[in-house]
Amino acid sequence: MVNIIETRDLSKTYLMGKVEVPALRGVNIAVEKGEFVAIMGSSGSGKSTLLNMIGMLDTPTSGKVIIEGVDVSEMDENQRADFRLNKLGFIFQFFNLFMELTALENVAFPILIVKRKDFEERAMRLLDLVGLSDRANHKPAELSGGQQQRVAIARALANEPALLLADEPTANLDTKSSEQIIEMLMELNKSGQTIVMVTHEPELGKRADRIIWLKDGMIKNEF
Ligand code: ADP
Ligand code: MG
Repeated sequence: MVNIIETRDLSKTYLMGKVEVPALRGVNIAVEKGEFVAIMGSSGSGKSTLLNMIGMLDTPTSGKVIIEGVDVSEMDENQRADFRLNKLGFIFQFFNLFMELTALENVAFPILIVKRKDFEERAMRLLDLVGLSDRANHKPAELSGGQQQRVAIARALANEPALLLADEPTANLDTKSSEQIIEMLMELNKSGQTIVMVTHEPELGKRADRIIWLKDGMIKNEF
């Protein structure tokens, strides 16, 4: 099987003034193509830090992140940005949409940046996929939380990412919208999308193929 991601002895220590906060301490994981993996653990266990390293939003203190066989720690800033745009899709707890742009423009944005001419059609197709084609011209403030997260999913899929990353994607939603979002993720996974999702909700974790447990910045599978 092909590994989409591997981490090797991944560590991250944050500096708070003069105090070192070890957020990750030697994490080794591998995620195969087509898997839906949940990262779980209590608050402060290092889940977001791990996802941010995998997603190249931050750099490790030591260790490696390998995505599709490429050691991303060797890349410079431009290569990183380019790789992120083409290979990775992100979904966050607070949606992180551009508030001044419409749903369609939010989804079209990453497609436009990679200079695809069909950005508008493609964005429209993606909005349709998440059931929001009738909201294309609305701004985020005119959409419910669940709808905003669906726009964020469409945007994350914009450039057919090898890997979809989600950090607590339902933590800010009501039960019904949460269910819609998790079902959408499961559906995407069924059609081949590799997904890594951080959650602290056991109900969500159960829906993944596999759970990676973190405790105090280390893998701890014997829960
Ligand atoms: P989780 O997502 O599991 O709640 P995090 O990865 O956010 O955990 O945090 C892991 C540890 O690292 C915590 O002790 C947290 O306080 C610390 N931490 C996270 N981000 C920073 C930061 N930017 N600066 C300092 N400490 C941080
Ligand atoms: Mg977190």
